[in-house]
Order: sequence, then C-alpha cells, then structure tokens
Amino acid sequence: MKNLLVVSCVSDDVKAPLSMYILKNFTADVVTGVDKYSKEFDAETIYLLPEGEDVSGLNGEIVHTSQISPTLNNPYSVAQVLSGNLPRPMIQDDYVAVYDGKAVSVITPEAAYGMTKGFEEKFVAINKGENTEIKKVNVGQPVGELAAVDGAKAVLFGGLKGKFVSGSEAAKLKIDETEKFSSITIYDESECIVDACVQLMNKAYEMSCGKCVLCREGTSQFKQIVTEMTTGKAKMSDLDLIKEVSELISIGAYCPFGQSMTKPLTSAMELFADEFEEHIKKKSCKCGKCYKQAELYYIDPDECIGCGECIDACPEDAIEGKDGFIHIIDQDLCEQCGKCVSACDEGCIKTATKLPKLPKKKTKCGKW
Ligand code: SF4
Ligand code: SF4
Ligand code: SF4
Repeated sequence: MKNLLVVSCVSDDVKAPLSMYILKNFTADVVTGVDKYSKEFDAETIYLLPEGEDVSGLNGEIVHTSQISPTLNNPYSVAQVLSGNLPRPMIQDDYVAVYDGKAVSVITPEAAYGMTKGFEEKFVAINKGENTEIKKVNVGQPVGELAAVDGAKAVLFGGLKGKFVSGSEAAKLKIDETEKFSSITIYDESECIVDACVQLMNKAYEMSCGKCVLCREGTSQFKQIVTEMTTGKAKMSDLDLIKEVSELISIGAYCPFGQSMTKPLTSAMELFADEFEEHIKKKSCKCGKCYKQAELYYIDPDECIGCGECIDACPEDAIEGKDGFIHIIDQDLCEQCGKCVSACDEGCIKTATKLPKLPKKKTKCGKW
C-alpha cells in the first residue's frame, strides 16, 4: 500500500494558533522537514489548510477544509475529513487509516519544523486579553523571561486541555517540549476566573467532535453549569458534580482532547475556590463581570397578542401560553438564547437585568 503524509494545519488549540504562523513564517524549514519524512516513508504529501488560507512554496497538494478540530492530528479523523465526513478520530493500536488506497500519517508544521531544526526550539502563543503574540523560544527558558506572569492573577498553560496556576507559580516554570507550553494565557486581577471558565467551556463544547457521549454531554453540561454560576442559578453541589463527572470523563473519553478538556475548569475551581463560592452563594462577582451582564428575557404583557409564534421558536420549551392569552417565559428554563425575539412580529419580547411585574396566572391579552 502507498503512503500519504498529511500536514495538518487545522488541529490547533484555540489558545495556540501556531500551525499557519509556522507554515507562513518558516515555510522552507517546514517543507524540508515534511520532505524528509515523506521520502523516508515513501509518502505523497497533502497540506491540509483552513479555508481561505494559502501558502506558496509547498511541495505537495493543498487541500482546504472548513473543519477545525483538535482531533485532526489523528490519521483516521484526517482521512474522514478528506473523504468529506466529520472529523472523528480512531484510537486503536496498529490501526491504519486509509484514504484513496493510501495509509495516512499526520504531522503538524511544528513537528516538521522540529525535524529540520531540532527540538530545542519551541513556539509559544502568549495570550493576554484579546491579543496573541507567538514567540520562538528555547526549551528550558524560564516562563518569567517570556511574559510578565509574576504579578498575574492566574496563568493557563496548554489552552483547552491545560491547567491554571497562580502567577507566582507560573514564573518558576521552565518551557519544555510538551504541548502544555504551546500556549500561555495570562489573566490579570480585573478578570473573573469563573467567566474565563465560561469562555473555555463554550469553546470546549464547540470543539467536541461528538463521537463519544461522555465528551459530547460533558462539555454541554459543564458549559451550562458554569454559565449558571454567572447568572445565579448554580448550586454549591454543582462543584462536586463537576469533579465527579470530570473524573469519569478523564478516564472514559475517547481521545486526548476529551480526556483533558475538564482540566482548566477543575484546576480553576481548586485555585479559586473562594471566587467560585462567592458566585454561587453570594451571587456576586467582585470583578463586576458576571450578573451585571445577565440579561433576562420577558414578554411585555401590555403588547403580547397571544399568537403563539414564539413557542415554536424556543428550543427550551420555556414559553407558556395559549391562543389569545399573554405568553410567559419560564425563567428557570430560559437559556437566554434570544431565538424567540425574532419570532415575535409584535416586538414584545424584551430583555432586562431585572424583570418588571409580570402576570402570574393566565391572563387574556388586553386585560393586563
Ligand atoms: S473525546 Fe470528544 S473530541 Fe474526542 S472523540 Fe470523543 S467526542 Fe470527539
Ligand atoms: S431566550 Fe431562548 S430559551 Fe429563552 S424563551 Fe427565548 S427562545 Fe426560549
Ligand atoms: S410571538 Fe410575541 S405576540 Fe405572539 S405570543 Fe409570543 S410574545 Fe406574544
């Protein structure tokens, strides 16, 4: 059987957008490494790039995909995408993924660069707020030399599969060759760690390929529970639930992404137990990020004509009402998705941080 080497530029962690950076800025070094590998394994080469990206000087076919997934460093997942399917991995000893009659291997631009230049150098994405700076660093270099982490509130190493540590702890670490040091995300005192976890869990949910139940349902549940911590709906027992489910997922999820995607949340809960407790028990956020933003959806009882159009638009079945009666949103079920707003031609579904007086029982339209 012939071989196929795929240079995957679509498996980056959201906090470490390294592949296209390395391919564009160190093209010759990557190509040398890829060609060396292809020759050794008698393989044809495909460069798998995100849609809209192009790089000249590549020695192989360029294929574009709209799929971006942490599973796209897995040969089976890559073969699936090349065949027009979803990126779903296969992890099994001695399993050979096949595409177009060829056995598939996968390499990243960073690994190809390493094959040319050696693995004493490493690329690190340093994230702060909205900014990302990618640096080429030496293995063994102290983190404190690369970024101002010492005074930080928290530092996340390794993105969606990573772990939070305190700023002072981060300053003591040295870069090693592992994925953990592919991204360093710095949070300062003004940033809310619970809100940061909401953003991370939302991304983890988006990135789960959905192949296995534990990861698919786990990311969905975690996203929901952490969001509830920022809107006053969570309970203290949710913290134990997260820990228990995390352990199950870390053992039972199918691929490395699912096995590790709970770590940012569980490490944040450990490091910032007080902050999580403050959100859940006191329903407050000392950074002023959460609660303040929580927008509640309600139906203006003076304007509702009782047509029922909003009921079908609500994916949570959160809207109650019948023909000619003022409709009501059940706040315990509402997920603040906003889908009902565009369904209402009367424009009577509104938002507020504090709900106005609303009907508690069935009320005919016009009788409020
Ligand atoms: S653990 Fe998540 S990303 Fe990995 S195969 Fe299962 S669903 Fe897909
Ligand atoms: S905001 Fe979303 S969940 Fe809430 S009532 Fe409207 S459609 Fe339903
Ligand atoms: S679509 Fe608007 S007017 Fe019709 S029932 Fe819903 S809220 Fe009332």
